[in-house]
Amino acid sequence: MPAIKVLKDKCKGCELCCTACPQQILSLSDSINSSGFRFAVVNDPHRCIGCAICAVSCPDLAIEVYAEGTVYRFYGARARNKVQPDNVKPDNYMKEGV
Ligand code: SF4
Ligand code: SF4
Repeated sequence: MPAIKVLKDKCKGCELCCTACPQQILSLSDSINSSGFRFAVVNDPHRCIGCAICAVSCPDLAIEVYAEGTVYRFYGARARNKVQPDNVKPDNYMKEGV
């Protein structure tokens, strides 16, 4: 089953992921992180389809997506590979075993 992990101390509570999620299962927490921001939480995790749109939408690299034995950190991979924003392709996903 796909799942996501929000790295809550990286989150600034911008809600971009909440808006982008096609399943509408993300929202902001009632509590705050170490920087004083409300952070994204998953409300209904079993409805996650592992599409990674939330991770792609996050400007702060705060979401990891776990799907089919792979963890996707889209923007993190882009930064590490120094891929230019206009040259981003799906195969620029970084894959790691989980
Ligand atoms: S992977 Fe897709 S369905 Fe799952 S929380 Fe992210 S945007 Fe929503
Ligand atoms: S897009 Fe990133 S920084 Fe913004 S609320 Fe979602 S996880 Fe937090």
